[in-house]
Amino acid sequence: MSAHLPLRRFAPPPHEWGGEGLLPFRHLYLHIPFCRHKCGYCDFNAYAGMDRLMPDYVDALERELVFARERHSFQPLETVYFGGGTPSLLPAPEAARLLAFIRANFDLAAEAEVTLEANPASTDEARVEAWLEGGVNRLSLGVQGFDPKALAVLERKTDAAQATRAFGLARRMGMPNISIDLIYAVPYQSMATWLDTLGRAISLGPDHVSTYCLSFEEGTLLHRRRAEGRVPEVETDLQWDQLDAACVELGAAGFRRYEVSSWARPGFESRHNQAYWRCRPVYGAGAGAHSYATDMAKAWRWWNVARPREYISAAPATRADGEELEPRKAIAEALMLGLRTADGMVAPAGFDGELAELQDAGLIERVDGRVVPTRRGLDLHNQIALAVL
Ligand code: SF4
Repeated sequence: MSAHLPLRRFAPPPHEWGGEGLLPFRHLYLHIPFCRHKCGYCDFNAYAGMDRLMPDYVDALERELVFARERHSFQPLETVYFGGGTPSLLPAPEAARLLAFIRANFDLAAEAEVTLEANPASTDEARVEAWLEGGVNRLSLGVQGFDPKALAVLERKTDAAQATRAFGLARRMGMPNISIDLIYAVPYQSMATWLDTLGRAISLGPDHVSTYCLSFEEGTLLHRRRAEGRVPEVETDLQWDQLDAACVELGAAGFRRYEVSSWARPGFESRHNQAYWRCRPVYGAGAGAHSYATDMAKAWRWWNVARPREYISAAPATRADGEELEPRKAIAEALMLGLRTADGMVAPAGFDGELAELQDAGLIERVDGRVVPTRRGLDLHNQIALAVL
């Protein structure tokens, strides 16, 4: 173990390395922590100015994956997800190498969903070609908005023209499934500009749209700027109206809200994200990545060292810490996550009181033995989470 690693407080379960009882992994997440610039609102494990570490980082990822492959049980992967950070920043040869490595070392299911998160500024012909050749069949494009004022508050360095160009390029080159991320409740973003953003996103013809309510996370530049009064608060009524507008506009364009923040055309729901919401085992590789394993009673979660340099020196033994979830906690989490999705889940035993309370509050309803969130429950999912956890 590297000297950089913090002390382990996590006692590994006896069958942690693929023994009896644990479900095999069918979902793989790879974290690429590099960004051209750190956006003011971002509290992800993402770093600017470290591009020169990329080749060593890809080497370290490969070491971790070989190590994981030897210790855990993997079945043909149904989903692979490159998240970040900005995975599209990897130069085409590095991306091609990593994609080829995964195909050489893991079996992929016939219709596996392989997603890569891309920033419009780094979506170019050479990269799109490498992604498609390497098996990427779903692009998640971090557009965030089309309105220059909102993009300036978010400190995004991309603009509407770049987003439109990147989307068109990926589509023309044959990317079959493209998702767009948008952010609302941004200071200075009026209802008119949000409606315009939704309209422009829809007119591109995406298969999936995620809309996130801007949150001011402690430790971010945006949080500090708001605290100093340099950025105004967004009125709560306007936030709700903007969410409502997303429901109306995306619904009218044929998208179904299948999760709190996610809209899809039929058949284009994110299979990888559904693995999280359904508490399926997901192996997370890369700096700060989280893994989740379960034997259907208890569950285990662990995470890697976060800083890219420390991750590189630690690989292949990259784990920083972890926790064991007792059965009730594991079920509570599964319930909280299941109720993020419009289809909900089969009502688990032992939560009758909490579920009755949520039903009385109009946040969930019972449909054919399942508990499903109402529209109000999707909008106020944090209240469901509070009650369940
Ligand atoms: S590009 Fe994404 S991950 Fe990178 S700093 Fe901006 S918001 Fe964070």
